[in-house]
Amino acid sequence: MKSARILMLLLALAWWSAAAPAPSTRTQRSGKSLIGGRIHTDLTAWAAANGFTARWNPRAGELRLTNRWAKLLFKADTKRIGIDGANVWLSYPLLRTGDRLHISQADEDAILHPLLNPPRLAKGDKVATVAISAGHGGKDPGNLEGNRQEKVFTLALALELERQLQHAGLRVVQVRDRDKFVALEERPAIARARGADLLLCLHFNASPGGDDAQGLETYCLTPAGASSTNDRGQHSGGPHPGNRHDRENINLAYLIHRSVLGQLDLEDRGVRHSRFKEITLATMPAAYLEGGFMSNREDARKIYSEAGRVRYAGAIVDGVLAYKRLVERGQPE
Ligand SMILES: [Zn+2]
Repeated sequence: MKSARILMLLLALAWWSAAAPAPSTRTQRSGKSLIGGRIHTDLTAWAAANGFTARWNPRAGELRLTNRWAKLLFKADTKRIGIDGANVWLSYPLLRTGDRLHISQADEDAILHPLLNPPRLAKGDKVATVAISAGHGGKDPGNLEGNRQEKVFTLALALELERQLQHAGLRVVQVRDRDKFVALEERPAIARARGADLLLCLHFNASPGGDDAQGLETYCLTPAGASSTNDRGQHSGGPHPGNRHDRENINLAYLIHRSVLGQLDLEDRGVRHSRFKEITLATMPAAYLEGGFMSNREDARKIYSEAGRVRYAGAIVDGVLAYKRLVERGQPE
């Protein structure tokens, strides 16, 4: 009697495991499934629901989605997506099951959705004043490359950017307009006190490995519910002042990033997410540029030369103007 019950139990168990889907995958409504303990969205289903045409390359594990407005590229097992040719980092890798790719719900909400459905300013609000925070200054030289100090080149770019933003009809607030130390937490406060609608933080990278790393990184504050791109233990507990502008932040960073890449021929290291103090404490939409590597010969030419700086500032202005048009759309000029 006892062994018959055990046999039935074993049979039931065998039936259950055969009927159950793959161990950690459970399909939910509308292309959602639980994979690895996280809710994911099936991108092919998402594409169909959002008016995109999908092209899947099984060998490369790449899914291309296109519609009238955007070209998106997703690659299995990477944490990046391409949007109109510019890279944007995700918090979690894109997962493949058979011929399907899945994006985490967290990334769909924090990154994909706001970039494809950008915010709009309240009626009558404008992007009129831009604060520029030239990285480092005074006793803080920033990165050093031979006798070159980052603080010198962030200031030079800030002053050229001021000239070109003003030429484009925008008001400019300089967090520092000379070689002077300004604490990180003071920077967003200065921008706020002087009525800035945006904050742009300018920095340049350097790699201890010398010439090996190059290219542009544009940061926005890590959106609520997402994780930072290079998490160096700068964990937050809970949301920050800057998270009020998650949707604006990612659009601003993306548009500046794309514009600079398009005009300066820098390697694309992607739009990234971080909790750098300058942008974490910002009370207005903010973007933080690591505008190339002082330690790389090609990047350095653009960073150190007058001609490079003029083109650089022009590309940032175009990005700011693209953002301004985007969030002011539908309002009288
Ligand atoms: Zn810096």
